[in-house]
Amino acid sequence: MSANRMQKIMENVPGKYYVDESCIGCSICVELAPDNLRSNLEEGYEYVFKQPVTESEGNRCIEAMEICPVSAIGDDGIE
Ligand code: SF4
Repeated sequence: MSANRMQKIMENVPGKYYVDESCIGCSICVELAPDNLRSNLEEGYEYVFKQPVTESEGNRCIEAMEICPVSAIGDDGIE
């Protein structure tokens, strides 16, 4: 199972990482990567509000992608 780039949530900023519509809003990713992921509490999903710029931000995004229980975080390889 992997994230689907054709189902990106609208609020994602353009770039490498994104959250797709399968997100269940568990917020684990926001706890792991608060500098890059944010919650839309009204809609019940998370999205990428800033692409990582430092190595540690990038590592936290990778961690979030790996831990997401529904594989809703994708990396489309575009910097
Ligand atoms: S970890 Fe996955 S399911 Fe949970 S809020 Fe983040 S993107 Fe959504």
